[in-house]
Amino acid sequence: MPLRRSIRNKNRSLNLRQRKTSLEQVHNNVTNVDNTINVVTEVKDNNDDANESEFERYTESTEYNENELSENIDNENDYIDSDDENYHVDSNNENYHVDSDNENYHVDSDVENNSVSDNENEHKNLEDPESILENSSFSNSVFDGEFGPYFSSSTSALIFSWFTKHMITTHAYEDLVKILNHPNFDVKEVPTNIRYFKKNSRARLPLLTVKKYTIPISNMKTQSTSQPSREAYAISLFDILTKILSNPLLISKMYNGPGIEVENKSEFWHGELWQQSPLFGEHSITINSVEYFTGDFVHISASNQLNCMRIISIVLHNNGLKLKLQRFLTFDELPAQFKTTDRYFNSNNKRWLLEEDKFIIVEPEVIICKTSVWLQDQNKPNYYSYIVSEILYKYQNKWKIRDVCYRIRHPSEYCPFPKNPYNLPTWKIFIDLYYDDFGTFRNVYHSLGGVYIQIGNMPFSLRKLLKNHFVIGFVPFGGNFKEFIYPFLEELKELEKGKVFNIQGKNILVIAGLGLVTADLPQGNDLVGVMRHNAKRGCHSCKIENNDSLKSFNDLSKELQYHHLMDKEFDLILNSDSSTVQKNLCSKFGLKNQKPVLDYLIRDRFLQTPQDIYHAIAGKILKLMDCTFNMFNSSGNNEFIKNWKLFEMPIKWHKLPNPITHRQSFMMSDRLRLAMVLPHILRRYLHISHLKNNSLIELQENLSVNINKIIDKLIQCWVIVAKCAKVCFSLSFSNDSYNILNNLLNQETIILTKTFPQDFTYLPNLHINGHLQYHAKTFATLVNSAVGVKEMVHKTFKNTVPHTNGKMIEKDLIKRYNTLQALRNIIDGTSDSRYNNHLGNGYFQDNIFRSLLSSWYATSTTMPNNKEIVDETVEPPDNCIYEIRLQAKWKLHQILQNNFETNMSIDGDIYYSLKTAYKEYFNFTEYLHNNKIVYFNYITYKVLNQKDDETSIIQIHVGDIVELEEELEGNSYAIIQAIFLHTYNNGKTYPFYFLKWFEKIEGRNGIDMMCQKYKICTERKKWHNIFPISFITSMPKVHFVHQCVNNCSVRNHDLSQPYLLNEFFYNAI
Ligand SMILES: [Zn+2]
Ligand SMILES: [Zn+2]
Repeated sequence: MPLRRSIRNKNRSLNLRQRKTSLEQVHNNVTNVDNTINVVTEVKDNNDDANESEFERYTESTEYNENELSENIDNENDYIDSDDENYHVDSNNENYHVDSDNENYHVDSDVENNSVSDNENEHKNLEDPESILENSSFSNSVFDGEFGPYFSSSTSALIFSWFTKHMITTHAYEDLVKILNHPNFDVKEVPTNIRYFKKNSRARLPLLTVKKYTIPISNMKTQSTSQPSREAYAISLFDILTKILSNPLLISKMYNGPGIEVENKSEFWHGELWQQSPLFGEHSITINSVEYFTGDFVHISASNQLNCMRIISIVLHNNGLKLKLQRFLTFDELPAQFKTTDRYFNSNNKRWLLEEDKFIIVEPEVIICKTSVWLQDQNKPNYYSYIVSEILYKYQNKWKIRDVCYRIRHPSEYCPFPKNPYNLPTWKIFIDLYYDDFGTFRNVYHSLGGVYIQIGNMPFSLRKLLKNHFVIGFVPFGGNFKEFIYPFLEELKELEKGKVFNIQGKNILVIAGLGLVTADLPQGNDLVGVMRHNAKRGCHSCKIENNDSLKSFNDLSKELQYHHLMDKEFDLILNSDSSTVQKNLCSKFGLKNQKPVLDYLIRDRFLQTPQDIYHAIAGKILKLMDCTFNMFNSSGNNEFIKNWKLFEMPIKWHKLPNPITHRQSFMMSDRLRLAMVLPHILRRYLHISHLKNNSLIELQENLSVNINKIIDKLIQCWVIVAKCAKVCFSLSFSNDSYNILNNLLNQETIILTKTFPQDFTYLPNLHINGHLQYHAKTFATLVNSAVGVKEMVHKTFKNTVPHTNGKMIEKDLIKRYNTLQALRNIIDGTSDSRYNNHLGNGYFQDNIFRSLLSSWYATSTTMPNNKEIVDETVEPPDNCIYEIRLQAKWKLHQILQNNFETNMSIDGDIYYSLKTAYKEYFNFTEYLHNNKIVYFNYITYKVLNQKDDETSIIQIHVGDIVELEEELEGNSYAIIQAIFLHTYNNGKTYPFYFLKWFEKIEGRNGIDMMCQKYKICTERKKWHNIFPISFITSMPKVHFVHQCVNNCSVRNHDLSQPYLLNEFFYNAI
């Protein structure tokens, strides 16, 4: 496609006010966030179509029993973080598609009112056409011919009957039309034997190897008649990696190399684990012809002294390899209070490990030589120069000392260095394993344990796409993760040592390791071998009892679940003499009576099994909703609902039901969204008269404040929860922001446990606040280890279950997935050695083939389902913008209502502004002949970012508030007043935006909100308002809340009042 960016050369300056868009900046943001939106909308908002078209092929073999399905009542919501499922899948057996959910959504708002009128209708005259849903009213046109009078032809009669009989979806039908209209469509080529055709075509595809093996089935969970074992299927990890490494679109964007030290950390290779582990990062460096390894102890010279240090990692920093070092202190360097006689004894060869916030980064040349240190929690080496038995660290600005056994081991202590005897090119692969097993808590029929992997070498922009979640397999119901995962572990074990792969005829050494394991909170415990929450010690990261949230911010350095200390406890448990002793030990340590199966691999349980923020935060929000809404009296409820309905939700959000009555059914992503707006809604109306008396008394006691401050305190809870959520979901972290994160989480813990001690003090979701900073540093961000998108992938598979015959669910799903990935590999151009890596051009050049595979989960970019697309040829203002679609043309009354005109008056400001826009951005200076303007509510277009060849889809709606970057003034904001088309003198039609600018004004709203105020510039003439669509190349990422006054209505706010920039807004997932 001839889509090259040349816009940067264009002169965009304006005389009255300079508006320059730094496209590069905008683009970076686009690719980070917008693809997620597409994925999300695809899965959620278009769920009915997406699911149907994806999965309908299953229906032909479907003979499931509806009675069995109706047993699906989901009562086992043990965990507060348990899931969306009840909402999505279990809600209604007969309607598998999200239509059913949408109906629920409308219930609060519309149906209440409608139900009244329905009753009225019962008493009305039945002849009234309004009261009849359908009847065979007489149509004007009567068809002649063989299929008259109802159908015009046999074709239309056949098609109508066919799609009715088989419930063909709109999308499926439209795809069929595309195929039939293909210029090369040949009816003689249409296969008649579909079974044979499917089997035969599939066999030629580049399918992955699926292994078949038998695993035992627990008879506790299945019917008594079922077999004691069952076949399981797993896709070969070797095959998955071979395909990934042969996929040109993936390999060109994947990172393989040393950990990188940057200011803004966003990818796995910016995190500490990648930097330190020999499995992922750089493990050796040669300095003055001596090879040094990570974990080595070295001497460096400083102020004429030899200083002992440890090489923590070898990283890329400012374009060169640098060393990150940890310091050891001598006795003389210890703080005075620690200079005891005991420590002084033999102090010549004693050193103290110094734990600091940051490691020292040095040039490799400063290293003088190796030395050796005996860390006294390790076996005694044959030779050593120094002994280290204690760690010096700071807690709350005070120096403290602890035993050296309380430390996280350096990966070099348990991870062998990879060997590369033939000097082959090497790929080190970071595997992120995700296990979702919540099905087994629920009904039999929908239970589905999914095991997925992601590749940490892919940048975040690729990792968040559904197609880049790779399925290993599905754990059969009644089967055990431990038995199921075994073949995968065997392969990964082999890869840890390095395995030679042949990729496109070349030998490559592939080393892969388990980077992290994610699951929701209870499964996370299983994977570490820690008992679940009901046990005395329920946290898999620390030994604090009962998940005491406040204690999670204490000095935890002696209470963390250090891997090697846990190993010792496991040893005691496994070697105990009797089952009673074993039981007691298990309960004492809070551990299970067997080691987790993943211990077979090289890993650190503590570091590499982080808690997931997606579940944790959504759970916290639900709890706080419970606390808040339970305090409302009836006037509190009524006022809340009134304000909730009036509140200006971000336009892209689907309609949320009223949280007072429906919060239990909220999806997790909805709960995250709710927290972004609730502080504003509560601030708008909440008064002490809205709270129950006993709640007021309780709050007053808990908070020990004056009654007038209660509301402020309550809103503050929501403010801090919203702030924390936003920071947790940050896509990048600097060193400072790790500390900001920790401070906020600490504040959150304090305020929530103080305000609602009974609900929050022992809530596991809140307890983990104390551990999140660690996880963030290990993996660069918290989003990197969050499971939001992973859950969505799992859901797409769960949603297909009803379309299988229910007997061989795992087999059907894995085969279907395999076909999907094969097609994906074909469109990606993945080389296939069976056919000499040759692939026909048709796949790339045939637009119909490609469009058939877009709007489908295996591909990334999809256009929304466009209904009233305007088919006019619209001229892109810029050659990076293409596929422009406009929707919902304004009718005359809308135009007038919005104060616009269909025909520009020559002396009007639209004319003047449009003429200026043509002059500034197109260099068209003529007098405008055509004064007709056509307005629309929506526009969508694709923008190609030349830098990384990623395409983003932009969807803009009238009323959206967009962010534009200016060279001089930083970000500025504008509201889209109109989207319109105008045909220039050259006969070409161009799309434009009509914007109104926001002006920052003094003052913020309240002490707790800290939201910047903005005002709309109402005078049209002051600034330019008309811009070509190339000004907006990213999806709006901001939300503004109006400071409403009495004369505001939902669609018509009093614009003399300011808007607040909602600081709590972010794109969840
Ligand atoms: Zn903990
Ligand atoms: Zn308002």
